[in-house]
Amino acid sequence: MNVIEVNDLLKRYPQRTSKEMLTAVDKISFHVKEGEIFALLGPNGAGKTTTIKSICGLLVFDEGKIKIKDYDLKTERSKALKQISVVLEGSRNLYHRLTPIENIQYFVGIRGKKISKNEALDILDFLGIKEKANEVVYTLSRGMQQKTALAVCLAADTDVLLLDEPTLGLDVISNVEFRKLLTNVKQKGKSILLSTHDMALVEEIADRVAIINNGKIVVCEDKKKLMDVF
Ligand code: ADP
Ligand code: ADP
Repeated sequence: MNVIEVNDLLKRYPQRTSKEMLTAVDKISFHVKEGEIFALLGPNGAGKTTTIKSICGLLVFDEGKIKIKDYDLKTERSKALKQISVVLEGSRNLYHRLTPIENIQYFVGIRGKKISKNEALDILDFLGIKEKANEVVYTLSRGMQQKTALAVCLAADTDVLLLDEPTLGLDVISNVEFRKLLTNVKQKGKSILLSTHDMALVEEIADRVAIINNGKIVVCEDKKKLMDVF
């Protein structure tokens, strides 16, 4: 079963310097299968963030169709969005003045659900940051902030996670730890769509990879097959 289907997604942005529109994502199609880690791999400006933000409903796209599980994002928006949670680049979707526990309780709350403090602590423990539960997010390291953002996703308890550049700005140790955590999260039965320019991340944890450049998908392959080519 596919948990995400993107068909002919097109997004253009107006530009400050000219009247012409910039095509950030140019009719791309791909799907994410249940239980897999699917990576969108590409350089800066390739269209990764635009794709992720279109799927999680933060950006209005111009053309194409996005389906999340059984729901069409345009016609069944709230049902579609209930199926996913997202970690934006730089954990921008956290409240940095709140603690990890408060972030978890707040974001679970706006989904109309409840989570006890102990349940939240269990999630932080699973991610190895239980001792930071009551420290304000902006005082934490980048790695800890990313783990907090991931904790919020796990607390939301959706089957599908979107992660935009999850290892960007992490030091070597945090990067290795975070990769391992994502593998553990997958083993919980979650499906993950991530964007990255980090080849090592893809090599280590992705099941399938789409290489994106200039708003177009150049290759979409099983990682193993792709690695044979390089
Ligand atoms: P990536 O995440 O792969 O770095 P983005 O999706 O952020 O790529 O950007 C794709 C292209 O769209 C880039 O050329 C970027 O400059 C442009 N872009 C992104 N957001 C905007 C915006 N709000 N307004 C205008 N151009 C944008
Ligand atoms: P990245 O390209 O590193 O993935 P984002 O796409 O998240 O970063 O861009 C950060 C913010 O800047 C977003 O709100 C995005 O819409 C905006 N942005 C990105 N590129 C441009 C651009 N060329 N012109 C205007 N805004 C842009």
